Amino acid sequence: MNYWKECLTCALDDENITLSDAQISSISEKLEDAHEGYAVYAGIEAATNGEKSDAELELEELKREIEKRTRWVNNTKPCDVCITTGIVKDSWGKDQTCGACEGAGRV
Ligand SMILES: [Zn+2]
Repeated sequence: MNYWKECLTCALDDENITLSDAQISSISEKLEDAHEGYAVYAGIEAATNGEKSDAELELEELKREIEKRTRWVNNTKPCDVCITTGIVKDSWGKDQTCGACEGAGRV
Protein backbone atom coordinates (compact mmCIF):
# COMPACT_ATOMS: atom_id res chain seq x y z
CA MET A 1 0.00 0.00 0.00
CA ASN A 2 1.06 3.54 -0.73
CA TYR A 3 2.57 5.34 2.29
CA TRP A 4 0.45 8.47 1.91
CA LYS A 5 -2.73 6.50 1.37
CA GLU A 6 -2.01 4.43 4.47
CA CYS A 7 -1.35 7.51 6.60
CA LEU A 8 -4.56 9.11 5.40
CA THR A 9 -6.55 5.91 5.97
CA CYS A 10 -5.26 5.69 9.56
CA ALA A 11 -6.08 9.35 10.21
CA LEU A 12 -9.58 8.95 8.79
CA ASP A 13 -10.13 5.81 10.90
CA ASP A 14 -9.01 7.65 14.02
CA GLU A 15 -11.55 10.37 13.31
CA ASN A 16 -14.30 7.93 12.25
CA ILE A 17 -14.50 9.49 8.82
CA THR A 18 -15.51 7.33 5.91
CA LEU A 19 -14.41 8.21 2.39
CA SER A 20 -14.48 6.23 -0.82
CA ASP A 21 -11.32 4.57 -2.07
CA ALA A 22 -11.18 7.06 -4.93
CA GLN A 23 -11.42 10.00 -2.51
CA ILE A 24 -8.68 8.53 -0.32
CA SER A 25 -6.45 7.99 -3.38
CA SER A 26 -7.06 11.53 -4.62
CA ILE A 27 -6.42 13.17 -1.24
CA SER A 28 -3.32 11.04 -0.57
CA GLU A 29 -1.87 12.08 -3.96
CA LYS A 30 -2.45 15.72 -3.05
CA LEU A 31 -0.79 15.19 0.33
CA GLU A 32 2.21 13.63 -1.39
CA ASP A 33 2.42 16.58 -3.82
CA ALA A 34 2.17 18.99 -0.90
CA HIS A 35 4.98 17.14 0.89
CA GLU A 36 7.22 17.41 -2.19
CA GLY A 37 6.61 21.15 -2.31
CA TYR A 38 7.37 21.61 1.38
CA ALA A 39 11.14 21.84 0.90
CA VAL A 40 10.67 24.77 -1.47
CA TYR A 41 8.12 26.40 0.83
CA ALA A 42 10.36 26.05 3.89
CA GLY A 43 13.53 27.13 2.06
CA ILE A 44 15.18 23.77 2.73
CA GLU A 45 15.80 23.13 -0.95
CA ALA A 46 17.41 26.52 -1.45
CA ALA A 47 19.67 25.97 1.55
CA THR A 48 20.85 22.57 0.39
CA ASN A 49 20.79 22.68 -3.42
CA GLY A 50 24.09 24.35 -4.18
CA GLU A 51 23.24 27.63 -2.52
CA LYS A 52 25.54 28.40 0.36
CA SER A 53 24.52 29.75 3.73
CA ASP A 54 25.78 33.13 4.95
CA ALA A 55 28.07 31.28 7.39
CA GLU A 56 29.59 29.21 4.58
CA LEU A 57 30.13 32.32 2.44
CA GLU A 58 31.72 34.15 5.37
CA LEU A 59 33.99 31.18 6.11
CA GLU A 60 35.14 31.05 2.48
CA GLU A 61 35.84 34.80 2.51
CA LEU A 62 37.88 34.45 5.71
CA LYS A 63 39.84 31.55 4.23
CA ARG A 64 40.61 33.64 1.12
CA GLU A 65 41.75 36.57 3.27
CA ILE A 66 43.98 34.32 5.40
CA GLU A 67 45.48 32.73 2.27
CA LYS A 68 46.09 36.16 0.74
CA ARG A 69 47.77 37.40 3.93
CA THR A 70 49.89 34.26 4.21
CA ARG A 71 51.08 34.70 0.60
CA TRP A 72 51.88 38.35 1.32
CA VAL A 73 53.83 37.46 4.49
CA ASN A 74 55.72 34.71 2.66
CA ASN A 75 56.61 37.04 -0.21
CA THR A 76 57.68 40.07 1.85
CA LYS A 77 60.19 40.87 4.58
CA PRO A 78 59.59 42.75 7.83
CA CYS A 79 60.21 46.49 7.45
CA ASP A 80 63.48 47.39 9.22
CA VAL A 81 62.51 51.05 9.58
CA CYS A 82 59.26 50.59 11.58
CA ILE A 83 59.87 47.01 12.72
CA THR A 84 56.53 45.86 11.18
CA THR A 85 54.33 48.41 12.98
CA GLY A 86 53.90 50.58 9.88
CA ILE A 87 54.30 53.65 12.12
CA VAL A 88 57.36 55.76 12.89
CA LYS A 89 57.87 58.93 14.98
CA ASP A 90 58.33 62.23 13.20
CA SER A 91 60.82 64.86 14.38
CA TRP A 92 58.24 66.13 16.93
CA GLY A 93 57.67 62.65 18.36
CA LYS A 94 54.29 62.18 16.74
CA ASP A 95 53.26 58.98 14.98
CA GLN A 96 53.39 58.99 11.20
CA THR A 97 53.05 56.35 8.55
CA CYS A 98 56.32 54.64 7.77
CA GLY A 99 57.59 55.86 4.40
CA ALA A 100 59.70 52.76 3.80
CA CYS A 101 56.73 50.33 3.80
CA GLU A 102 53.91 52.89 3.42
CA GLY A 103 52.34 51.62 6.64
CA ALA A 104 52.18 47.98 5.60
CA GLY A 105 54.88 46.87 8.05
CA ARG A 106 56.48 44.63 5.46
CA VAL A 107 58.36 45.33 2.24
ZN1 LIG B 1 57.88 50.33 7.71
